[in-house]
Amino acid sequence: MRILLVEDEKNVAAFIRKGLTEEFYTVDVSTNGEDGLFNATNIEYDLIILDVMLPDINGIELCKKIREHNIKSPIMMLTAVDELRSKVKGLDSGADDYLTKPFEFEEFLARVRMLLRRPALPNNLLKVADLVVDPVKHEVWRGTHKIQLTWKEFALLEYILRNKDKVLSRTKIFDHVWGDDLETSSNIVDVYISHLRDKVDKNHSPKLIHTIRNVGYVLKED
Ligand code: CA
Repeated sequence: MRILLVEDEKNVAAFIRKGLTEEFYTVDVSTNGEDGLFNATNIEYDLIILDVMLPDINGIELCKKIREHNIKSPIMMLTAVDELRSKVKGLDSGADDYLTKPFEFEEFLARVRMLLRRPALPNNLLKVADLVVDPVKHEVWRGTHKIQLTWKEFALLEYILRNKDKVLSRTKIFDHVWGDDLETSSNIVDVYISHLRDKVDKNHSPKLIHTIRNVGYVLKED
């Protein structure tokens, strides 16, 4: 799951990023509205978190602009205690939720999970054939067999599963799962797909992870 955080206060941004990374999310940080708008409209995010007070543009205006670009990702606004009115404006501008700073990280995380949960099945489980992924507990099953994955393997599986039946290019997968990790090259996608196949497909049928030659990968049932 890839999240965009637009927050100019470096300490707050670092704190949120660290906490989310520990929960296995991939986080990009923009420190101003212009960069935030660029990222939001050029990269596919599962969630966008906007601080209201930004150096160049108000977070509410930014939220409106993002929605004008027809970006449907859930948006959470972060507001200061004395910005009560901005909460109302924030929701009017197309945000899905708001949180008042300072906040408890646990509460923040609960909101993040709630917003990310929306596209999932009602019971939050992602399924195809007998593969079941619980994005909240980070558990993976094939039938009654529980599968242990590293956190990157899990992020990769969750991403291709949420996009099941869609062919995903290596670049798209890389951008989504590894984010702006410039130390890594997109060959890593093939390496991790191979790990996933060993763990998820090898001793099971039907095979779910398919290679589309010269294009990328698709997770589908057949
Ligand atoms: Ca700020």
